[in-house]
Amino acid sequence: MRCPFCGAADTRVVDSRLAQEGDAVRRRRACGECGERFTTFETAELTMPRIVKRDGSRETFDEAKLRAGIQHALEKRPVGADEVEAAVGRITRQLHSRGEREVSADLLGEWVMDELRAMDHVAYVRFASVYRSFEDIRAFRETIDRLERGEDG
Ligand SMILES: [Zn+2]
Repeated sequence: MRCPFCGAADTRVVDSRLAQEGDAVRRRRACGECGERFTTFETAELTMPRIVKRDGSRETFDEAKLRAGIQHALEKRPVGADEVEAAVGRITRQLHSRGEREVSADLLGEWVMDELRAMDHVAYVRFASVYRSFEDIRAFRETIDRLERGEDG
């Protein structure tokens, strides 16, 4: 990293420690040319990607909306709030870890379906029936049959 005092390219790290309760690394650097010292902070860049909807419009990822969608599918089902939070956390981390600026709403929907399928089959079918808009009652029935046989929907 270039020295902010003299512009020399040759600076070295003389000290490195965790800051902000481990969320950042604080480094002391010394310039090999002018001898000045300065501090840098290193933090993870956590910018949420935008969600690209089917009609091509974009919206900012909204964790509250994701949670509400999952809770809606789970209405009156025996699934606790902790499980919902864990699912929301996993989906949010997946979004972060992709490191992309945009993620399709379809992919996000697939992740939600994966989580619901693992939590509660009725909730999964509720969500999938709206999301995939099952073309006819037979396709819907086949999905339920597969679930009952323990296969993945
Ligand atoms: Zn310097």
